[in-house]
Amino acid sequence: MEDCLFCKIIAGEIPSTKVYEDEFVYAFKDINPLAPVHILVVPKNHISGADEINGENSAVVSKIFEAAAKIAKEQGIAEDGFRIVTNCGENSCQSVKHLHFHILGGKQLKADMG
Ligand code: 5GP
Ligand code: ZN
Repeated sequence: MEDCLFCKIIAGEIPSTKVYEDEFVYAFKDINPLAPVHILVVPKNHISGADEINGENSAVVSKIFEAAAKIAKEQGIAEDGFRIVTNCGENSCQSVKHLHFHILGGKQLKADMG
C-alpha cells in the first residue's frame, strides 16, 4: 500500500534489520527497542490492524505465530519467556497502521500491560 511505512520496509524501499522472512511474513528489529529483544512480525499483505482481520485474510495470522515461535527460539528468548502484543487503534497507541506483532523478551517484563 502506498505511503505505508511497513509496506515500504517489506519492499526494501526503507532499510530494516531483517530477522526472518517467508512467503507470507516479514520480521525485523524494532528501531526503538523496549527490551533487549524487540522484533516486529508483519504480514507481507497490507492489513491495517487487528480490527481488519477477517475470514478472507486470517490465515496469515497463524503464519505470523509460527514465525514468532521460530524467531523466539532463534533469538534465545523462548526458554525464559517472551511477550507477543499487537496494538490496535488510538487507545492502544498504534502508531503504524499495518498489522504488526511485537515480540519482546530478554528481560523480566512488567505484569502491568495497561
Ligand atoms: P505501534 O506503536 O504501532 O504498536 O508500533 C510501531 C513500532 O514501529 C514502534 O515500536 C516503533 O519503534 C517501530 N518503528 C517505527 N518506525 C520504524 C522504522 O522505520 N523502522 C523500524 N525498524 N521500526 C520502526
Ligand atoms: Zn502496509
